[in-house]
Amino acid sequence: MTETATGAVQYAEDWGVVGQSAAAAALRHALISGRLTHAYLLSGPEGAGKATLARRLAQALICKAGVRPCLECRTCRQVDSGDAPDIEGITIGGVCDEGNHDHASDNSTRIRICQVRRLERVANLSPFAAARRIFIIDTADELQPEGANALLKTLEEPPATSLLILLATDPEALLPTIRSRCQQLTLTPAPASEVAAALVERAGVPEGEALDLARLSRGRYGLALRMHGDPSLAVLRETATEQVRSLSRAGRNERLDYAQQLSRSWQRERESVLATLDVWRSWWRDVLHASAEVPGGTPAASGPLEQCSPAQALAALSATQRAREHLITNTNPQLALEVLMLDLPVLPAQGMRDGEEAREPIAVTPEAD
Ligand SMILES: [Zn+2]
Ligand SMILES: [Zn+2]
Repeated sequence: MTETATGAVQYAEDWGVVGQSAAAAALRHALISGRLTHAYLLSGPEGAGKATLARRLAQALICKAGVRPCLECRTCRQVDSGDAPDIEGITIGGVCDEGNHDHASDNSTRIRICQVRRLERVANLSPFAAARRIFIIDTADELQPEGANALLKTLEEPPATSLLILLATDPEALLPTIRSRCQQLTLTPAPASEVAAALVERAGVPEGEALDLARLSRGRYGLALRMHGDPSLAVLRETATEQVRSLSRAGRNERLDYAQQLSRSWQRERESVLATLDVWRSWWRDVLHASAEVPGGTPAASGPLEQCSPAQALAALSATQRAREHLITNTNPQLALEVLMLDLPVLPAQGMRDGEEAREPIAVTPEAD
């Protein structure tokens, strides 16, 4: 191992972020050399460690221990629990300055422009105790378009005492002008062995389960940990992944049948339908990343994904996101789901000729990984 690589691993270990040594090292290097910029964009799939990395950067800035934050003092704990006075998290359903808004209970599906206006106002105030006010936008790809434009203004002229950390699962969905004003760091899945080892050592997960979770999470420690805490998540993830795989190879009639079935479920168990759609989004993101990767790179998702173009994956991702929003805002659920089913790309089934319709039942048809 080269000296640099050893150093990078050490940095990540200091920050307790599994598998993101390069990104952690880049941030630490910026801190040590005094070259921290005003805006960072941390991108990567769900559960890869974006939010943890953002919190570590914040802790490194305000903990007395400096670039190697202690993670134990009051300040460090406040950052972890979201109570640090100089740090604001901007998420869907968060606060704004409008007295009559209650985004926590108004079924918000995006980060609103009023939340960005609040960010703009607070960013111009002097920090309480730290050298900077830190804003963590989780996630920036969930910004309302008007909100994204408002954020752009702050990114163009950032107050000297501010630091914006944007997290994104789909950085390509952000305005290019937002991307170009941020220092971009891409988080990649960690080797399964590293995730499994961390699960055993840090969370006391039995080795067999740790190996399963590492595989199922596709190298994302945060996601693996969540599935460990809630085993039903792992089951749902596996089932929903098989469904979306089958659907992307199914014909029109099967898709419409499935839409009907899902809209009936929507009447009874909304949370589970939304969770299913979230898994689908995450799957299409994996497909998107895998399809955009150069051959020979680490595949982010398993399966015959080379048959899907990045444009198809992006279209499927947007269609899933739209259906989710329509469901939450009480649009005709069956219509919303039918539109989704018909908007999903038709991927060629293995061993089938072009134009031939898939005849497999949709239910649960596991495919060899
Ligand atoms: Zn500390
Ligand atoms: Zn508001």
